[in-house]
Amino acid sequence: MTIKSIVPIKAFHDNYIWCLRNGENAVVVDPGDANPVFDYLNKEKLNLVGILITHHHPDHVGGNKTLLSKFQVPIYGPKKEKIPGITHCLEEGDQIFIKDINQNFRIIDIPGHTLGHIGYYNDKLLFCGDTLFSCGCGRLFEGTPKQMYQSLAKIAGLPDEIMIFCGHEYTEANINFALSVEPENKNLSDFQNKVKLLRDQGLPSLPVRLSQEKQTNPFLRVHKPNIARTLINNRKVSSTHPKDVFAALRKWKDYF
Ligand SMILES: [Zn+2]
Repeated sequence: MTIKSIVPIKAFHDNYIWCLRNGENAVVVDPGDANPVFDYLNKEKLNLVGILITHHHPDHVGGNKTLLSKFQVPIYGPKKEKIPGITHCLEEGDQIFIKDINQNFRIIDIPGHTLGHIGYYNDKLLFCGDTLFSCGCGRLFEGTPKQMYQSLAKIAGLPDEIMIFCGHEYTEANINFALSVEPENKNLSDFQNKVKLLRDQGLPSLPVRLSQEKQTNPFLRVHKPNIARTLINNRKVSSTHPKDVFAALRKWKDYF
């Protein structure tokens, strides 16, 4: 299956419900609302064959029950969270194969935004819900900075060419913050121009390649001396350990 057959279905203000298509079959990721999914499946004459869930927030699971009333499909989700309609409880180390779309995924635990948050990945793709965003990361609603730091380090350890599918279109606002952390990062200002062109045409800024994120996402760059220096000078951080830099950066973004 090529990357072209993964389509974002827009929901709410800025959510993406990713739809993996193969022939007449479709799997959706984090359907917070059933209506835009029904509309898309009808329009494209697709048959829903499965649902993947990354974490329990209503804007990611709110459509499960309504979708199940029309399609009796398996719902994959995190073992450690309460997911409506879940049939397959997953945690790190598990592997799934979805025959109808010919895709297999490995599971990683990526807590921080929520405690049981999981990601689905293979050689080419990662669905990471609200853990990593382009040029940003999720808010710490349940977990600690240390947990999120470790989750992002896990993602950073995946192959550089992997394409990352996030749960929200937050990229432009995230770039504005990233530029205040690293105003001299040329890759970041180039990326800002590229994203602006896409968004001006109403196109999504996602998915994004992991290698790109490593050049532009400050939360994946907390080991860089220039970022540690900025935090020490502007945010009164005393340690240059990446874990401490990460915690201070996340706090800064919370009030940005
Ligand atoms: Zn969330």
